[in-house]
Amino acid sequence: MKPEDTEFYQPEPPKVTPADNHFLKPPSDATVLFDGSDLSLWKSMNDGGEVKWNVEDGHVTVVPGTGAILTKDTFGSVQLYVEWRSPMNMEHKGQDRGNSGIFLQNRYELQVLDAWENPTYVNGMAGSIYKQSVPLVNPAKRPGEWQSYNISFTAPEFNEDGSVKTSAMITVIWNGVVVQNNTEIKGPTVYIGLPEYSAHGKAPIRLQDHNSEVSYRNIWIRSLDRSE
Ligand code: MG
Repeated sequence: MKPEDTEFYQPEPPKVTPADNHFLKPPSDATVLFDGSDLSLWKSMNDGGEVKWNVEDGHVTVVPGTGAILTKDTFGSVQLYVEWRSPMNMEHKGQDRGNSGIFLQNRYELQVLDAWENPTYVNGMAGSIYKQSVPLVNPAKRPGEWQSYNISFTAPEFNEDGSVKTSAMITVIWNGVVVQNNTEIKGPTVYIGLPEYSAHGKAPIRLQDHNSEVSYRNIWIRSLDRSE
């Protein structure tokens, strides 16, 4: 297969203007993964060492070429809240404009991308489960403005022989608007071809370096695992 075989352009999700205040502070039982200054709960995916992204003014910005970052801790089912901002740089378009991503369990990508007047394949726009599920609507804000993802993720379960018992499921509220409604995830995110599960346990959260200076702040997480 070619990459284009899994890229779809129609129909485009309707645009929605979000309400002004859709930001959420961490509740009392959340683990704050990033408070705007401290990245000690994260590591570089390349070498497992210190994160080389740029922390200043209460946020962290991807330094292109330094690689993705991972939480040191691993997670199953979670509520994950993240605020993100696309860069003002308009040099690029499509998948090259403000691309990053949030990988649940280090495998399943909720796309981060500038979705303000930046056409691309709709199953690869912000709010999509990359190359799997188009967002229901497009509540994007302009580049340079802070946006929020409030994510509820159910980890997949596997049988002893490694086959899938239950698929991963995800609900995503983008800028206060539901864009994924208990969506079934079909397998780990792939650029080429079709996703296919392989059994795994708890895994880190990954934030992607995709050569864009995307910023993040106010990241918190709550375990939804029933046994805990
Ligand atoms: Mg991405």
